[in-house]
Amino acid sequence: MVFWNEGWNEEIDRNYYLWVIKGMGENIIVDTGTGITEGTKRKLKGYVNPVDVLARIGVNASNVTKVIITHIHFDHVGGMEMFPQAFPKATFYVQKKEFDFWIKDPIGKRRPFVGITDTLANKALAVLEGTDRLKLVSGDKKIMPGMELLLVPGHTIGLQAVMVNTAKGPAIVASDCAHIARSFKEDNPSCLITDMIAWLKSYDKLRAKAPLDLIFPGHDVIMLQNYPKVAEDITRLV
Ligand SMILES: [Zn+2]
Repeated sequence: MVFWNEGWNEEIDRNYYLWVIKGMGENIIVDTGTGITEGTKRKLKGYVNPVDVLARIGVNASNVTKVIITHIHFDHVGGMEMFPQAFPKATFYVQKKEFDFWIKDPIGKRRPFVGITDTLANKALAVLEGTDRLKLVSGDKKIMPGMELLLVPGHTIGLQAVMVNTAKGPAIVASDCAHIARSFKEDNPSCLITDMIAWLKSYDKLRAKAPLDLIFPGHDVIMLQNYPKVAEDITRLV
C-alpha cells in the first residue's frame, strides 16, 4: 500500500505521526493525529491520544494557536474530534480545495474515499467554516516568517506540505506526499492516489526546494528509529 505497484508480497511497518514545529516563541502543530474513536475502532497498536503525546514534550494543546492540517484523512485530521476541548485557541490551516472536497463534495462520501475519513473530525472542521478559526488557503502561502505552506496534490486533491527554515536550511514536513522516504528517492508514490500526474509534479516541486534528507514523509518508521529520541515515541527530526 505504501509503494505503488511493487512489493505486494512484502510486509512493512508504518507509524502514525503528528509534528511540532518550535520557533518564534510558538509551538505550531502539523496535523492532529488520529482521534480516540478511530484509533480504537481501527485497533491501532500503541495508540496514544494526540493531546497526551504533545504533553510529553511540554506542549499544552490548550495554548496552541496554529494547527496546520496537511490533508483530511482520519490519521491527520482525527484529533479534531476533541475540538474545542482540545486546541481551544487554535486557528486551523487547510487548503480550500481539500476542505471543499471532503466536506462538501458528494464524491468524497463515496466508497473509495469514505473509508479513510473521520466523520466526527470532519464535522468539527465543517462548523468552523466562515469563522476566523479556519483559514482556507489557496496554493502556496507564507503563514509566518520562515514558514510556508506548499500545495502538493496527488495523494489527495489539496494536500499541503510545510516548509520551515531551520539551522540546516529549508526542511519540509511532506506528510503523505510520500508514505515512506523511499518514495521520494525512487520516484514512486503510494497506492492511495487521487491524481498520479499531479503527484509526480509535487515530487518535483518538493525536491527542488529541499535536500532529500530534509523532506520528511508521512508514515516511515525511520523517523522514529533514526533520529534522536526526546521522549517516549518522539524524536527530533531537525
Ligand atoms: Zn496518512
